[in-house]
Amino acid sequence: MSLPEVLAAIRQAEAASGREPGSARLVAVTKGQDFLSIERSVLKYGAFPLGEGRAQELRDKAAARPDLEWHFLGPLQRNKVKYLRPVTLVHSLEEIWQAEAIAQAAQSWGRAPDVLIQVHNGEVQKHGVDPEKLPGFYSSVRETGLTVRGLMVMAPEADEAQVRRVFEDTARRAHDLGLSELSMGMSGDYPLAVQAGSTLVRVGRSLFT
Ligand SMILES: *Cc1c(COP(=O)(O)O)cnc(C)c1O
Repeated sequence: MSLPEVLAAIRQAEAASGREPGSARLVAVTKGQDFLSIERSVLKYGAFPLGEGRAQELRDKAAARPDLEWHFLGPLQRNKVKYLRPVTLVHSLEEIWQAEAIAQAAQSWGRAPDVLIQVHNGEVQKHGVDPEKLPGFYSSVRETGLTVRGLMVMAPEADEAQVRRVFEDTARRAHDLGLSELSMGMSGDYPLAVQAGSTLVRVGRSLFT
């Protein structure tokens, strides 16, 4: 697919669920892609936020293109927090120490990235905060001074009905916490995610093949 085709599919899913056109934004996941492909497959269509999943790769790419908007969406280790300086949004916050370390580093950066809390999906992956613990985790993150904008979830490897349920549960949890951003949906499942209310769709492979 190409980026315009992905955008069209997003618009179609918005329309199918009675949502405003443009209420789901595309985050182009560029991990593993060089600037030639990023230029050809993403930037020639407009200024989309770029999502990176590895902290060192993010640091190097953002240093080369500080004019672009960078998001981080991978696992975050303590010694890599310093690489997040150019990032405007972290999608994958899952430990309180991460929030504390980002908030502390941000004092010397002069600004802090906003964050999304990654929610555990009960299945395929070990990452994310247990849904039961979300309200407590959310207030602890807020105490660090960071701005929490929403929740992120990765779909389990499961049938469509179960993926839909994970997206809908996450949307309900965000709503219950009064959070407006929902980072849900990847190449394999983003139309479903948009129908469930996703506001930030993280698509990689589909843009580059
Ligand atoms: C790689 C990645 C994506 C993009 O996945 P695709 O299947 O390439 O669309 C989205 N979110 C996260 C957290 C990722 O690591």
